Amino acid sequence: MRVIFLGPPGSGKGTQAKRLQSALNIPQLSTGDLLREAVRKGNELGKQAAEFMSAGKLVPDQLVIALILTRMEQDDCSGGFILDGFPRTLAQAQALEDALAAVSKPVQQVIEIRIEQDKLVERLVGRRICPNGHGEWHIRFNPPKQEGRCDTCGEALEHRDDDHEEKIITRFEAYRKDTEPLVQFYTERGNLAVIDGDRDIDDVTREIAAAVGA
Ligand code: AMP
Repeated sequence: MRVIFLGPPGSGKGTQAKRLQSALNIPQLSTGDLLREAVRKGNELGKQAAEFMSAGKLVPDQLVIALILTRMEQDDCSGGFILDGFPRTLAQAQALEDALAAVSKPVQQVIEIRIEQDKLVERLVGRRICPNGHGEWHIRFNPPKQEGRCDTCGEALEHRDDDHEEKIITRFEAYRKDTEPLVQFYTERGNLAVIDGDRDIDDVTREIAAAVGA
């Protein structure tokens, strides 16, 4: 199955996409994670992306499109994938549609997690991430068992550079201006399901699972 997650920063896309990955047994592909990995490695892509990311701005389309299309060619994507954080612009959505049409494997389901912006700032400033990809916690809403440490590997949790209030506002603006038009784009294609993200995390998971028939 080929699924896209849409939703503003902090809406729970990453958490829900990871849960769906286990249920459907297909990989979750997060452009944010792939870009952060490139920045950590200090490779050419990472050097070009770092400045945009730390400012809370979108990385240029051509870099992100090349990154995700290359990743989608790997064997683990043959049975489908869950895109988390891509596409984020109409140009990205069009490039994805063209690439998938060329192999007759169109996107089957788009999940939009909808939630009001004022609920998200607190979620984002308190978010703490495992640097080894074991997930995320929240200092108030979902604290780890040992303060500041990943429950799975014990590594020190990180506060993302762009999870500070002024960067969060820039990220919301980018979402409103560049990404929200995708709601219309996918509504026209008839495969968008809107999910209320302002609920218990397990309820959101159940509704998403029903939408994709998992
Ligand atoms: P995320 O982890 O999805 O919140 O992404 C973190 C940051 O990575 C974003 O604020 C952007 O700077 C960059 N990024 C991730 N995905 C994309 C994308 N599809 N297009 C442009 N920039 C992206």
